[in-house]
Amino acid sequence: MTSPRVASVRIDLHTHSRASDGTDSPAELVRAAARAGLDVLAITDHDTAAGWPDAQAVADEVGVTLVPGMEISTHHRGRSVHLLAYLPDPTYPPLADELARVLDGRAARVPRMVTRLNGLGIDITEDDVRRASAGAVASGRPHVADALVTLGVVADRSEAFDRYLAWGRPAHVDRYAVPLETAIRAVAGAGGVSVIAHPWGRGGLGRPDEQTLVGLQEIGLAGIEVDHQDHDLETRDVLRSMARDLGLVATGASDYHGVGKADHELGCNTTDPAELERLLAAAAEASARSGRPTPRLTSGRATGTA
Ligand code: AMP
Ligand code: FE
Ligand code: FE
Ligand code: ZN
Repeated sequence: MTSPRVASVRIDLHTHSRASDGTDSPAELVRAAARAGLDVLAITDHDTAAGWPDAQAVADEVGVTLVPGMEISTHHRGRSVHLLAYLPDPTYPPLADELARVLDGRAARVPRMVTRLNGLGIDITEDDVRRASAGAVASGRPHVADALVTLGVVADRSEAFDRYLAWGRPAHVDRYAVPLETAIRAVAGAGGVSVIAHPWGRGGLGRPDEQTLVGLQEIGLAGIEVDHQDHDLETRDVLRSMARDLGLVATGASDYHGVGKADHELGCNTTDPAELERLLAAAAEASARSGRPTPRLTSGRATGTA
């Protein structure tokens, strides 16, 4: 017996390309999303919008709705916090200036990490890292990790972080990150919306209390990422009910990095279409308030509208 096919809309709002530390080019990322059966994909490279144009071109071609975004490196109360920003105008000076500072900090960190590794007796050069990060606007520790893999020092990125690059390990070097409140305000001013990435995981808020979230919401925070591989089922339940209580949007996403991160396949977590609608409505409001143009949201087979 056949039943009518009800089209379900599959939405993944957190993915990386080679513009930062993913391993697919932006074009390959969108093609992979189409193959994975996704209808809506956000490209959210660390601290850059560089991948947007190529991703958008392919999204138009294959009929995926592309949400342009980024994952901003911020800090809050001594912790590193990743902030997802959707549909901001990346040329808005307060946002562009902060991103430039982060990217400069990322670039300046590479030689310092290389020096640390040399001090540990590892024969690695800046050129090795440059080759590993070819095409990336935002260089990161994963590129140093990839160089160490190529040199045969470690088996994979994970081992490189565990032995050398993670916080507290011998080749860890700090870099500039944006104060969280500054980033939320800059994203709102740029006509976009922000969502705390993996709030309870690595690069998150720690155990966020409602009071902290309310404070951030007052300055423009729109949502929190609930369904993420760093969160176990119990954590997801807690975060989901916090989001519901506070009226924050609850998202879900893969945090796909290509072959750079195991167990983060495209679509392994998804966002409820109703939550995406709320997020887009908040973005439209922010854009109207700020007067900043909203980057084009590519029309795809999911919505059929612009
Ligand atoms: P960075 O942006 O240079 O500070 O590096 C952080 C990035 O490294 C994260 O976004 C992850 O993609 C990756 N990462 C962090 N910790 C690990 C780990 N233990 N194993 C593999 N990748 C990691
Ligand atoms: Fe990453
Ligand atoms: Fe992150
Ligand atoms: Zn990410």
